[in-house]
Amino acid sequence: MDYQNRPQRQMFDVAELNLKCAECGVDIKELPFQPTQKDDGTYGRIYCQECNRKRRRDTGGGNRGGFGGGGRRDRY
Ligand SMILES: [Zn+2]
Repeated sequence: MDYQNRPQRQMFDVAELNLKCAECGVDIKELPFQPTQKDDGTYGRIYCQECNRKRRRDTGGGNRGGFGGGGRRDRY
């Protein structure tokens, strides 16, 4: 196996679903995953790429201080 030409992440065309980003309201034309419709006919909260990235960063566990136990010290 060679990993030299890894395929680009597949994008699903969701333009016909008229999805909008739950954060900034931008039209979402494609997603890196296939959205699943829920019982109430919605697709839940879907975010555009940019907001997704932001959210990931925000919730990335960057809490400083808080629970100790890691033994990691801020600079001496
Ligand atoms: Zn957005």
